[in-house]
Amino acid sequence: MNKSTLEEDNYMKQTKILLIDAAEISSATFSNETVTALENAADVIRQGGLVVFPTETVYGLGADGTSADAARKIYAAKNRPSDNPLIIHIEKPEDAELYAKTCELYYKFARAFMPGPLTVILPKKDTVPFSVTGGLDSVALRCPSHPVARRLIGLAGVPIAAPSANLSGKPSPTCAEHVIEDMMGRVDMIIDGGESDIGLESTIIKIDGKTVTLLRPGGITYDALSCVTDGVEIASAVTEQLAKDERPLSPGMKYRHYAPDAPVVLLDGKEEDVIEFLKAESQRSDCLILCYTEETGLLPSERIIDIGRMNDAQAQAHKLFSALRDADKLSPSIIYAHLPQKDGIGLALYNRMIRAAAHTVKYIPSGMKGNNLI
Ligand code: AMP
Ligand code: MG
Repeated sequence: MNKSTLEEDNYMKQTKILLIDAAEISSATFSNETVTALENAADVIRQGGLVVFPTETVYGLGADGTSADAARKIYAAKNRPSDNPLIIHIEKPEDAELYAKTCELYYKFARAFMPGPLTVILPKKDTVPFSVTGGLDSVALRCPSHPVARRLIGLAGVPIAAPSANLSGKPSPTCAEHVIEDMMGRVDMIIDGGESDIGLESTIIKIDGKTVTLLRPGGITYDALSCVTDGVEIASAVTEQLAKDERPLSPGMKYRHYAPDAPVVLLDGKEEDVIEFLKAESQRSDCLILCYTEETGLLPSERIIDIGRMNDAQAQAHKLFSALRDADKLSPSIIYAHLPQKDGIGLALYNRMIRAAAHTVKYIPSGMKGNNLI
């Protein structure tokens, strides 16, 4: 895309911010005033504009999912490479019929997890432009459970294509402040619906005949998916580094992601060894530690960001992206964090953190003290 098109589309937009009361969201009964505001947001979508909206996973940067032009605006606003396809958000699971070639397995997963944080990749129909799917002949579909997202899709009357509402490469936004940091002046409207519940992006599966592959772990765990059908495969890129020239099953897997400016090092080893190492390293004024709540009393408060309790991967998932953004603002020259376990929602946490760390993991043997690892 040339620069003048980009400027025309995305720069210097007057971004309107619409605040929705948390009480309205939790009761899912919207006042007339809010419905009118959401109708305006839906109009913006129908007219080809960009609206950021809250979902239960992270905030989405939405536009008309049937419009090639609107998709182009999303890529420009995010600086996202145009071969990294978008997820299309639908109001009801059966709306998938309009955009994809569905199958019995799709409906099994839909009955189990929709509406909710699951994205399913299926062969696409012609109603979805190739610019939305990054040129692929498959399409990613998700039916979110967040009441604002559902109402907006319903009012728009079109499916909403929406990647996470961050600048490409930055952590996904889990509250409106993050969105404002990245998207002010680049979108027409931001709907502030408070903090996202889950805090990590949706679980993505691909259904190909009888084969189901987990492409991105998220709030719906591998075990939960395996209750629907046997033999769910896990794409190697979920936990491993892609080999040079390897073509990933999901184009997004090849891009640098979630990465703060400072290098992130994940520490593996026994808790007592890792904490000794961290105590020694925290003497350095340029390091920052994403630590467990239980460790906060053991480390200097100015060097730490509390990421949640040790055995609460759910809480850690909820906090991770805002912790990475906060870490960046402190401009450390190194960030340490614990290597997560790979079970339950821990697999999603592992997948995001290993990418934030560009796969840098250090094993701390017993008796090792900090000594400038990198
Ligand atoms: P985001 O929108 O930022 O949550 O990222 C969406 C993710 O879904 C990216 O990693 C994409 O590569 C992936 N994705 C979307 N559509 C497809 C598709 N048709 N096939 C494979 N991966 C997809
Ligand atoms: Mg994203």
